[in-house]
Amino acid sequence: MRTATKQPASKFLRVRCSKCKNEQIIFGKPASKINCLVCNTPLLEPAGGKGKMKGKVLEVLD
Ligand SMILES: [Zn+2]
Repeated sequence: MRTATKQPASKFLRVRCSKCKNEQIIFGKPASKINCLVCNTPLLEPAGGKGKMKGKVLEVLD
């Protein structure tokens, strides 16, 4: 079984908040932490040039 979760690159990602299920489009290589717009849970944190995903990636947008 192959997981759909890839390491986020310089792409936009559609992610779902693990807490409130809000879906949000975010940049996969952020300069600062990205929080859920609804409940403020961190979705993606910058880590060594690429983001550390906290939410669930639903789709990678080119
Ligand atoms: Zn949320």
